[in-house]
Amino acid sequence: MSDDQTSAAGRPRDSLAAIASLVRGEAAVWLREPGLGLAVDAAPLTIEEVEDARARFIRFEPVLSTLFPSGGWDGQIRSELIAYPGSGAPNLLVKCDHALPMAGSVKARGGVYELLCHVEELALRRPLISPGQSLEALLTPESLAVLEARRIVVASTGNLGFAVGLVARALGLQAEIHMSHDAKTWKKDRLKSIGATVIEHACDYTGAVARARSSAEAEDAYFIDDENSRRLFVGYAAAAAELAGQLSARGLTVGPDSPLIVYLPCGVGGAPGGVTAGLKQIYGQDVLAVFVEPVASPCVLVALAAGQGVPVSVYDLGLDNDTIADGLAVPSASPLVLQAIGRNIDAAVAVTDQAMVQWVRRAWAEAGLRLEPSGASGFAALALFIERARVAGLINPTATPIHVVWATGGSLLPEPEFSALLASDAA
Ligand SMILES: *Cc1c(COP(=O)(O)O)cnc(C)c1O
Repeated sequence: MSDDQTSAAGRPRDSLAAIASLVRGEAAVWLREPGLGLAVDAAPLTIEEVEDARARFIRFEPVLSTLFPSGGWDGQIRSELIAYPGSGAPNLLVKCDHALPMAGSVKARGGVYELLCHVEELALRRPLISPGQSLEALLTPESLAVLEARRIVVASTGNLGFAVGLVARALGLQAEIHMSHDAKTWKKDRLKSIGATVIEHACDYTGAVARARSSAEAEDAYFIDDENSRRLFVGYAAAAAELAGQLSARGLTVGPDSPLIVYLPCGVGGAPGGVTAGLKQIYGQDVLAVFVEPVASPCVLVALAAGQGVPVSVYDLGLDNDTIADGLAVPSASPLVLQAIGRNIDAAVAVTDQAMVQWVRRAWAEAGLRLEPSGASGFAALALFIERARVAGLINPTATPIHVVWATGGSLLPEPEFSALLASDAA
């Protein structure tokens, strides 16, 4: 196997065809050249990083369950894996991260993980706790007084800010959330109501990140950098072992005859990238990762199609990054994600706003799933991917794949927002 980045890229003619579809506002599929095996990424995820993340999540369980006691929650950031009852595809499972505790989105994994890393680091440095001591000491008035003086800064199109702001405030930290113009009003209002500082920018996500980064230069601040954070990435990767356990509990074995295909909604690429890196560690070539993006914001697809392993702006292709999927409205991918997993992303599928909204309705009608458009995008990619992957030989004709659509957000959508989506004529 060559170490050349282009060896892991798709065929140039297909890449051009995908870009041409996008420019026409149509769905597009980019496939990695099949049969190359696992490529070596420039900065791959290590086993130690994932184990460290799992252990940290466990250490924080008593703290989180005390701070978020509703429903007798045990503090585990975990979601159900359910069989999809409708006729989407045979062997279709749904990973219900739209219903994750606290945040109601996949950001409860990566965003919250980085926050926990920082809080633990701070607590050991002060010290508020000694190594090995239970983290419940973080809940004492003395600890709160220290945490109150710290400011967490993050930029968001909505969900990352919501997750980080919510948990940061619960821990007593100040939260400064820089929202891009995509952010929905209800997410901003909820953050304000819990005492977060919400700074609304008229610019896109890349611009909001730049503004947040400069605001966080002060001594008292910690910046969660969605475009460059290894911690975020690792937090998401920890989800892989959870899924693997759930698949075995269902008696499902992943292998060459029953490959696992995961459909992962993608913004900057941190969430899908982390999950993919974790799953490739467990299943190697028997898992195929399909990144799903809006037609107007396919930042990972265009970076993969260009084949250089670096971000490409969707604006440079004449796309406008204007989508109903606020969680995925990102014009330029995370460079860190491209380095950590870019060579092993098997496919990128761009779906239309209309298809996402249709799936919001369908997942509700058929399965009672409350999803936002970003969270429903994985369903919209399934048929497009299967058709192309079979033709391209990426799926063996005799194999019986296990399809997992990762539902990434929406359970906290307020009723008026959700009804408006169900009634909208975007579809
Ligand atoms: C943030 C988000 C994603 C994608 O995560 P990235 O790390 O930005 O790629 C997917 N779905 C929803 C609902 C999100 O909020």
